[in-house]
Amino acid sequence: MTIYNFSAGPAVLPKEVLQQAQAEMLDWHGSGMSVMEMSHRGKEFMGIAAEAEADLRELMGIPANYKVLFLQGGASQQFAMIPMNLLRGKASADYLNTGEWSKKAISEAKKFGAVNVVATSADKNFSYVPEFAAWKCDPEAAYLHFTPNETIGGVEFSWLPDAGSVPLVADMSSCILSRPIDVSKYGLIYAGAQKNIGPAGLTIVIVRDDLVGNVVAGTPTMLDYKTHADNDSMYNTPPTYGIYIAGMVFKMLKRNGGIAAMEQTNIAKANLLYAAIDASAGFYNCPVATDNRSRMNIPFTLKDAALDGAFVKQAEARGLLQLKGHRSVGGMRASIYNAMPLAGVQALVEFMNEFAKQNG
Ligand SMILES: *Cc1c(COP(=O)(O)O)cnc(C)c1O
Repeated sequence: MTIYNFSAGPAVLPKEVLQQAQAEMLDWHGSGMSVMEMSHRGKEFMGIAAEAEADLRELMGIPANYKVLFLQGGASQQFAMIPMNLLRGKASADYLNTGEWSKKAISEAKKFGAVNVVATSADKNFSYVPEFAAWKCDPEAAYLHFTPNETIGGVEFSWLPDAGSVPLVADMSSCILSRPIDVSKYGLIYAGAQKNIGPAGLTIVIVRDDLVGNVVAGTPTMLDYKTHADNDSMYNTPPTYGIYIAGMVFKMLKRNGGIAAMEQTNIAKANLLYAAIDASAGFYNCPVATDNRSRMNIPFTLKDAALDGAFVKQAEARGLLQLKGHRSVGGMRASIYNAMPLAGVQALVEFMNEFAKQNG
């Protein structure tokens, strides 16, 4: 039976990457060592890390005046590192509140300065993106933070806020590499790797270099971007195996037409699943506003929640795993990141149609 894993994270990885890792597990390229056993300062691993960075720069078109950092601590640690590094003496920062991850970023930032919430979608249970005209942005803000894809609510931006000269900061944990973006429009982009890049334990930060090097007093060395920027992310031991796997994912994307090609597949997958939900005559329902529906995380409820258990169980029996929704939304959630093939979504839709017919 073919298994399709719809986990929100840690999530499915490309099979060909896992197979390559398996083949190289005990002996990387004739080195006689596993990548896990290599010194991060040896020429083999330095090469792996440099190539991973170069490939990511090429894929995303990262300009030369941006640093690429391979860190640890997850996106959650960035919730603190961002205000510590980017407040730069300013009194407050702007945050958009579109759901669970925005809320966590906001509450952490409040430990370091004032937070101005420019807009929120709390009035409709975080099911949409507030229109930009209604945002109350502060032109003096240290930066403007938003979450382009809310992984739990399934709410995704299809447009870019215009923050003027205020640096734009984006938590791209669950949408990085899923569609082309213009990096030069951002001050800082960050993402935990475990959704769309590689294994948990690696966090990627892409930061414009003028924003590095002006931390609040008392910032620990490890939480200063400059520490990592000045040392090519090798100030201490980086998450070596995660960097290695991520590098293979970047190479695979390059072989397959890059991010633009990936976006086309992602559109096809999302359209297929939303069409099945919308054609189910109310048996399935997605709570998210049509224009803000995520291509990566698709929450949906069944018209009778008493059927949830049977849905999950029968789906599992067909190899469709980890579909149970987040407790704050209920129902189901299908996460269909880059590594989920179209065939996986087709199998899910086929099952959903059968299940609706039998239980409708
Ligand atoms: C998963 C996720 C996080 C948390 O990531 P960790 O790496 O577990 O800290 C933060 N923001 C978004 C948008 C996420 O999807």
